[in-house]
Amino acid sequence: MQQAQVACDSCGAELVPNAAYCERCGSRTRRARRLVRLAIRVELLFFLLVVGLVIAFTWIYSAQR
Ligand SMILES: [Zn+2]
Repeated sequence: MQQAQVACDSCGAELVPNAAYCERCGSRTRRARRLVRLAIRVELLFFLLVVGLVIAFTWIYSAQR
């Protein structure tokens, strides 16, 4: 298990536990960056799912005629 980040990577200020941003310089913590990457992946997966559904429905619609 990864250890919690205790100090800011940019300015070295002490971080509040589970903070998403540094209180002094405003840069994202490692945990927040990881969550952002995860959110982007989930969003991309959802987008591909929607695109796949649209293609499937278009195909079904054209096959019925
Ligand atoms: Zn900082």
